[in-house]
This record gives sequence, structure tokens and C-alpha cells, in this order.
Amino acid sequence: MIAHIISIGNELLIGDTLNTNSSWIGRFLTERGFRVDEVRTISDDYDKIIEAIEHGFENADMVVSTGGLGPTHDDITKKAVADLFGSGMTLNREVLEYIKVIFRRRGLRFTKSNREQAMVPDAGEVLFNRQGTAPGMWFEKNGSFLAVLPGVPHEVKHLMETGVDRKIRECFTGREFRVTRYLKTAGVAESTLSDELIGDLGAFIDNGYDIAYLPGPSGVTVRVSTNGASTVDAVNRLQPLMDHIMGKAGPFIYGEGRDLQLSEVLGRILSEKGLQLAAAESCTGGLLCNTITDIPGSSAYFTGGEVAYSNRIKTGGLGVPGQDLEQFGAVSKPVALQMAKGVAEKYRADIGVSTTGIAGPGGGTEEKPVGTVWMGFYLAGQHFALEARFTNNRLINKERTVAVVLETLRRNLLQIGTTPYDLKPRYP
Ligand code: AMP
Ligand code: MG
Repeated sequence: MIAHIISIGNELLIGDTLNTNSSWIGRFLTERGFRVDEVRTISDDYDKIIEAIEHGFENADMVVSTGGLGPTHDDITKKAVADLFGSGMTLNREVLEYIKVIFRRRGLRFTKSNREQAMVPDAGEVLFNRQGTAPGMWFEKNGSFLAVLPGVPHEVKHLMETGVDRKIRECFTGREFRVTRYLKTAGVAESTLSDELIGDLGAFIDNGYDIAYLPGPSGVTVRVSTNGASTVDAVNRLQPLMDHIMGKAGPFIYGEGRDLQLSEVLGRILSEKGLQLAAAESCTGGLLCNTITDIPGSSAYFTGGEVAYSNRIKTGGLGVPGQDLEQFGAVSKPVALQMAKGVAEKYRADIGVSTTGIAGPGGGTEEKPVGTVWMGFYLAGQHFALEARFTNNRLINKERTVAVVLETLRRNLLQIGTTPYDLKPRYP
């Protein structure tokens, strides 16, 4: 089942409004087994709207358009769609009554253009909009379907989850279903993962499986999808590929699920082992503690931490010798090591971790270029630090640092025996 999405609105093209509808709808349709093949963003232009919908009818089973259903002169989607079907418009009493209710409730005056909103093309079916005044509409042409929705994001979500969802279930029974799953990795480069660990997947691809590597600042996601006669059938078909990838790259995969977080997985491990974690942060400025505490229930395993940004705090708060700061600099192995040990002792935690680095864009030297980060670890008789060279981008460096610290802990606690990006542990 192929789907197209059409976003209509001048504001989207000039960058005034971020096109959140298309990503939301894309995700929604993918979860329901569609393969979203094309997303078009077009202006409020009569000819463009007709062309995009006709193109959708020719190439997709399902087309969703959003935008251009407002009551003002610049909203022309409804007129274009009605003309496309050679359809007249009729006043829908139920919609009209509901619009009046909304206006009464909001204390607004009902005008001529509001009455216009209750006019719907005869060729379509109304998808009742309980969150706004513009009704959604559903059309069919040569076995393809079209949902016409307003632009306001919460109305789009409401209509997709009610009327459109109902129509999809009604109109798409017996067709192929598509299932997508996500394997999340951390601390391994995309090329190493695909070339050296997972290797050639040509045999799967030839058999109708789609595989994508999606790199992000905190790790690479492997997305796999395939079709089946039902969702269960597609899930079953996907299993051998999932097993194959797990067999090749298992230790680097921290879990499954598009929205799964590394911090969530680490939290589970810490809870199971009954361990307490504390963190001392310099270059990450609190992002590490923030990421850890984004997870509900983190108080069970996270005691606290501190942002030791200045040398004074590194010394006074965490016991970093002034001599080390002077001799080796704040971004150095001895400082990272002592920060981790100091915070574990101060917060009476089993595990202490630390970050200190040159986030950039300024402050780099030849010896310690921007992106140089030291991370310290103090846990169960182990005391080591890792040195990494990340990027020139300040925010990406912070995210990378956090991911490497969390992934190092995960591998250490699960005794996986490798470090992220093969970083070499340095001991005191
Ligand atoms: P419209 O139905 O075209 O009158 O759109 C109403 C409002 O919804 C616009 O002013 C935008 O702020 C918002 N909007 C329209 N299209 C989108 C979109 N694709 N993503 C996010 N917001 C949108
Ligand atoms: Mg508009």
C-alpha cells in the first residue's frame, strides 16, 4: 500500500511554519502498514493542488492532503478538489450546527465565511472534525483514496486518529500490510556497522526487505521493513532478518524500538543490579544528568551530580588537585579520573562518571583540538578514562559525549568487553 502526502500552504514554503503535519502523518501511515513514497509541499495554488492530487491518484493507493481548508480567500483546497471530481457543493447541516456550537462556546460572531466551511463536495464523505470548524473529507477514485484535512496540527491528528483511521480499516482490508522495526545501536560508526559487523544484506533486499542505516548524534538506528498479508505475517517475515542482524551486531544493539533511549536501557540495568550512579559534568553542562533523569523512575538508581564547569568547582567540589589542572589542563586524563572518583564519593554512589572537553567552536589547540573530550569512570574496583575526538559542533559534541558515557557503562555492566568507537581505556 503506497501513500502520498501533500502539504498545502504558502507559509510552509517560505519557512514561516514548520511542516510538522507531514512527518506526523508519515509516521501514522507507516505504523498502519503504508509505504509513504512521496511528500509534496505546495503553495495555495489551484493548478498545483489539482496536479498533486492527480499524481497521487495515479501513483498511490492513499493520498492525504492537509491545509487550505480555512474560511478565507487564500484557502482553496476544497474548491480545487470539488472541481477535480466535477462535483457540486452542498451545505452539510450537521457540520453547520457544530460550527455554530463552537462559535457560541468561544463567544465569537458567526460570519458568512464560517457558513462556507459547512459546504462540502457531493463527491466526498465528511470526516467530522470535533476540534475545529473545517470538516475533513474522504474521496475515492479508481480504487485510490484521498483524505482532505485542514492544516492545524491538532485537528490533523484528531481527524487521522478518528475518521481517517476508520476509513483505512474499512477500505484497505485484504491488502498488503507493511511492518517496520528499529534496532538501536550506540558507539559504532555507520560504516563499521554496515561493512564490518552486519555485512552484505543483498539476499534480504532481493527478497523484498527494506533496510536503512540512520545515523544520529547518539547512535545509528537500523530500520528494517517488509510487507505481509497481515501485520502478524509481516512481523513473522521480518524475524529472520532481525535474527540475522542481532547475530552479527548483537553486542552493539542496545535495544529495539524507534523511541527507545539508551538512558532507559542503562537505567534498567542499574536497577536490576541495584547500583547507584552519580555524574560530574564539565563540557556537557548538565546534559548527562538531564538525559539520565528524563527517564521516569530514575531516582531509583541516580543519586545526583554536579556541573563542575570552573576549575574552582573541580577542585573544591570534587577534589581535583590544583596541581593537575595546572600541569595537564582541565581537559585531561587525571582530571576526568578524579572528577569521576570525587563525585562517586561525594554522592555516595557505586558508580561515578565524568565529562571534560573542548566543546567548541573556540578554545582548541593543536594538542587538544575542538572536540577533544575526556570521560572518567569509577566503578566496582575499576578506574579508567576514555579520550575521544568528536566534531567541531558544540551541541553535537555534548550529545556524543553523553551517548559514549552511557554506552560505556552499558557495555561495562553487561561485560561486553568493548568500548564505544574502540576507545582505549586509560588507567591512573
Ligand atoms: P489552513 O488549514 O491552511 O488554514 O492552515 C491553518 C494553520 O495550520 C496554518 O496557519 C498553519 O499555522 C498550520 N499548518 C498548516 N499546514 C501545516 C503543516 N503542514 N504543518 C504544521 N502546521 C501547519
Ligand atoms: Mg492555509
